Amino acid sequence: MAIKTKNEYLKSLEGRNLKIYMFGERVDDPMNHPIIRPSINSVAMTYELANKPDFEDVMTATSHLTGERINRYTHIHQSTEDLINKVKMLRALGQTTCSCFQRCVGMDAMNAIYSSTYEIDTAEGTDYHKRFVEYVKHAQKEDLTIDGAMTDPKGDRRLRPGDQPDPDMFVHVVKETKEGIVVRGAKAHQTGCINSHEILVMPTLAMRQEDKDYAVSFAVPVEAEGLVYIYGRQSMDMRKMDESDSGKIDQGNACFGGQEILLVFDDVFVPWEKVFMCGEYQHSGMLVERFAGYHRQSYGGCKVGVGDVLIGAAALIADYNGTQKASHIKDKIIEMIHLNETLYACGIACSSQGEKTASGNYLVNLLLANVCKQNVTRFPYEISRLLQDIAGGIMVTLPSAKDLKNPEVGPYIEKYLKGVSSVPTENRIRLLRFIENMCLGCGATCYLTESMHGAGSPQAQRIMMSRMLDMGARKEMVKRLAGIKE
Ligand code: SF4
Ligand code: FE
Repeated sequence: MAIKTKNEYLKSLEGRNLKIYMFGERVDDPMNHPIIRPSINSVAMTYELANKPDFEDVMTATSHLTGERINRYTHIHQSTEDLINKVKMLRALGQTTCSCFQRCVGMDAMNAIYSSTYEIDTAEGTDYHKRFVEYVKHAQKEDLTIDGAMTDPKGDRRLRPGDQPDPDMFVHVVKETKEGIVVRGAKAHQTGCINSHEILVMPTLAMRQEDKDYAVSFAVPVEAEGLVYIYGRQSMDMRKMDESDSGKIDQGNACFGGQEILLVFDDVFVPWEKVFMCGEYQHSGMLVERFAGYHRQSYGGCKVGVGDVLIGAAALIADYNGTQKASHIKDKIIEMIHLNETLYACGIACSSQGEKTASGNYLVNLLLANVCKQNVTRFPYEISRLLQDIAGGIMVTLPSAKDLKNPEVGPYIEKYLKGVSSVPTENRIRLLRFIENMCLGCGATCYLTESMHGAGSPQAQRIMMSRMLDMGARKEMVKRLAGIKE
């Protein structure tokens, strides 16, 4: 079935024996763990929306490999329209979940590996692309969620992979046999990997000849022997452990969330048919650059969708507080809109200026994708600051919802935390908790820190911008206009 339903996705996660650790203990039932479940709900939304007729254009596509209708998450972009629809899909999902829905990294990895393997084969006479096409067909047919794994722990940042005192600071091949390879190392910040079906690994840097063993790309199932998942904590995550009605009020966005994991490869075997790069160090930089470009484009969609919800939260809390007519409040909301739509404009621009690669799929305009992500490292912080300004200090001094329900002090909270008289105090409290979550809690992990470091930290985009801009041509422009002859 090329487009799975939400329930089929949820069923596919059942009964898997994964080595997951959280708070020093093994997690046996991730599906029903209160910290993990909201992140599963977010990925499930990528299946649910794909089955809604209203979202058909943005959430689904026609496979160029099989001709079948597929979830856009498994699609290889065939046009700039596909790239634009991808951004729209991410905005819609951001609006629906107000979280990180995790599945985009794998889609971006697939598109980057698709064109890179084609070019590696052309240059080196290898046959990775054919293998990868088979892998994509399988992912499309089964509507798989794929974890794209790029970021290595990196150890001493001054040293290249092969020069590290501990050789495992970057994922590398430790053994090669007739059947396949054995890999060791770790990938950090793995978004949604235990909610996925497959892990698709890429190198994290351009490599030198000495780092040949580190120039490796491959796929393994999430259940592969030797994979260990160590769950990343998020700000205020313990609130998720209280699943009572009042506990859910205090969570703010109780239904949805992100997931970040330290993923260890403790000598994992990979059969040759799932190896997509092995030693072609000269091409590692191209793969990294393309993946980063796609994922920097992604942020011009997903964070914009979250921003839409936050703009709604700002306007609603102003209504509840009775400040909606104040001119400075209106102006702050306009500023939030301006910043958010600027991010969207960047996401659409780098998509519409995308170009066909030698393999036939479409790649975003890399300069504009980097500009997009650079803005994402800044604007969400300002949007969050404006939201906190409009919400007021009460968002961090509220008593717990358990006190609201307490017969003795609850009436005081009802009375003294009321804003405009037509709005029930509980609604105001629910909204303030939502805003707190998005500005300071688990939601801020996704909206703020992830905006800073996800898809590469700010400096990575600045390096790309300086490399991609033709400065010589610009110097010539000014010389011509100023009549300078050298
Ligand atoms: Fe998708 Fe955005 Fe999460 Fe990346 S940060 S996986 S683009 S939702
Ligand atoms: Fe991310």
